[in-house]
Amino acid sequence: NEQIVLAKRTEGIPQDDVFRYEEIDVREPSSDEVLLKTIYVSVDPYMRGRMNDSKSYTQSYELDKPFNGHIVAEVVQSNSSELQKGDVVTGVLPWQKFITINQKYVTKIASNEVPLYLYLSVLGMPGMTAYQGLLKIGKPQEGETVVVSAASGAVGSVVGQIAKLKGAHVVGIAGGSEKVNYLTETLGFDEGVDYKKDDFAEKLEKAVPNGIDVYFENVGGELSDEVFKHLNKFARIPVCGAISSYNLKGEDIGPRIQQTLIKNQALMQGFIVAQFNEDIKEASEQLAQWIQEGKIKSEVTIDEGFDQIPNAFRKLFTGDNFGKQVIKVSE
Ligand code: NDP
Repeated sequence: NEQIVLAKRTEGIPQDDVFRYEEIDVREPSSDEVLLKTIYVSVDPYMRGRMNDSKSYTQSYELDKPFNGHIVAEVVQSNSSELQKGDVVTGVLPWQKFITINQKYVTKIASNEVPLYLYLSVLGMPGMTAYQGLLKIGKPQEGETVVVSAASGAVGSVVGQIAKLKGAHVVGIAGGSEKVNYLTETLGFDEGVDYKKDDFAEKLEKAVPNGIDVYFENVGGELSDEVFKHLNKFARIPVCGAISSYNLKGEDIGPRIQQTLIKNQALMQGFIVAQFNEDIKEASEQLAQWIQEGKIKSEVTIDEGFDQIPNAFRKLFTGDNFGKQVIKVSE
């Protein structure tokens, strides 16, 4: 068996020396425990914050202890009355090839009919984040303009598609022509704007002739400073992430936004997906139905091999992932 532990804390994009591979034993499951074989590992931007030793909404990873995150795994041995050999489960689990854990920490997947990695994207935490942040805080109305950044990614792609289902004019911001074309051609967004191009500001202005009613914030930084120039009266800004600053070595500074918010009587609200857990069931069922009906599509980048996890993680910050980034560890 093998695991990956946090070897050291770091600044900037975590390099290989932050991730230490260790050989460990496979432990037999005792009462109420199962032995799991890891199939898919999810890497997510929030993990960057957990590598720091600072207070946040999730606990820091501990030095010399395994990383953990959302995983899809198969039960290979069971000492639990709830789960059987062959069942597929998800949970927040340690980065190990084989995991022995109490059954209460995992959830059996709802259906084997869909690709399993969907439980790490639309049918998992990112899909839930998109659904809750957009509908509970953004509250898009028919005919309104919704803008989303990191638009081709795990969260952003779902935000834009749900906004379309609600009848909004949807504009996605992403890096590079392949991603931008995907937004309009595959996902059905009204407009895609490439923030890496010099004409970003002009293209954005053209894409939002009626201003912006909802800005689903995933990125922060200069990109968002540009977006804020187009806010409408009573605009809503669910602040989901600020990925452009996760690896900054210094402070993140920019224009102050208070006056813009006052002038527009706008609402800007940070959130974390877990705060909306009370109606998780209804939200999961709705997302599953949209997937089944083909109303929500999703792209995935699957890298193969346990040894690829650090590299796959870094791709989130270079934009080399396309859609949800996962790692396939076993069949
Ligand atoms: P993605 O699948 O969107 O992958 C990350 C993408 O971010 C990259 O592909 C890249 O896209 C973009 N990106 C990276 N660095 C920059 C940068 N400096 N400037 C602009 N874009 C950048 O990741 P997720 O969908 O999983 O996460 C999206 C956001 O949602 C993150 O900020 C994350 O922290 C947040 N989040 C928040 C949650 C919450 O509960 N609040 C829960 C889950 C996610 P491109 O090629 O287009 O630049």
